[in-house]
Amino acid sequence: MGNLQQLIDDVHGELRERLGEGKIADYIPQLAKISPNKFGISLATTDGKIYNVGDSSETFSIQSISKLFTLTLALGKVGDGLWSRVGREPSGTRFNSIVQLEHEMGRPRNPFVNAGAIAVTDVILGEYQPKEAIAEIVRFVQYLANDSSIIIDKNVANSEIEHGDRNFALAHFMRSFGVIKHSVDEVLGVYFHQCALAMSCEQLAKSGLFLAASGKNPINGYNVVSSLRAKRINSLMLTSGHYNGSGDFAFRVGLPAKSGVGGGILAVVPKTASIAVFSPGLDNNGNSLIGTIALEIIAQRAGWSVFG
Ligand code: GLN
Repeated sequence: MGNLQQLIDDVHGELRERLGEGKIADYIPQLAKISPNKFGISLATTDGKIYNVGDSSETFSIQSISKLFTLTLALGKVGDGLWSRVGREPSGTRFNSIVQLEHEMGRPRNPFVNAGAIAVTDVILGEYQPKEAIAEIVRFVQYLANDSSIIIDKNVANSEIEHGDRNFALAHFMRSFGVIKHSVDEVLGVYFHQCALAMSCEQLAKSGLFLAASGKNPINGYNVVSSLRAKRINSLMLTSGHYNGSGDFAFRVGLPAKSGVGGGILAVVPKTASIAVFSPGLDNNGNSLIGTIALEIIAQRAGWSVFG
């Protein structure tokens, strides 16, 4: 596989002078405070090695990357029954768009736009109290990353609730169609907490490694999902993991990946590696600008792509 440490060191060094490009998420004060100069990369391989550079051990708000973990958890609970609640088509709209929901009877396009992720969280809530559902999500992510130190940033979660009007609108709208069964306050309480999980690139790369290894976590040997399910989750990341920037990301990087407005991206190189990048400056679609360029260069130089 060549010298992967050298590869990420080079990319980190080359892009450092461009930090500050893009716009930091400012819809809640907690995210707006982050320094634009943070930049980390972690690369975990299916043979159990991990390579890090820059701010790779610094935790940040994973935001929508959590949608990948809650999707995996919900599929484990209800299997393919999940698809009666949420679709599998790219949205071509912004992550928090409401416009399609009215045309499509409140059924969100996919599990990675906000509406879809809120519907998935409603499924996880099931018979639980919100606190229990939050605890289950945290435990699941700790299990995936093999790291019990992962926690939720309570300040971020509370701030999301205070500034969550758009998500409340999405949830109420879906509830009016029966797509959401619990109260909007309960579902969003859980959703905002999952978005506020604080993780480092290293923890993220480890937690996504099962998707590169046919569903089995090579670090601890746990079978997380079947290889068919891992493939399908990867397909959804490729088609919808970057909202209305998903086509451009597939064109430039050619790997399944999920982004978050905290500036993180978790990418999967099937049968080979998972890569987490963190750089808080965002492009117009709310995806990490330098993080995307870093992944583009890494994929090109390593010859990684799901398209051959
Ligand atoms: N917490 C954010 C929201 O719900 C997550 C969005 C994102 O990361 N794209 O608006």
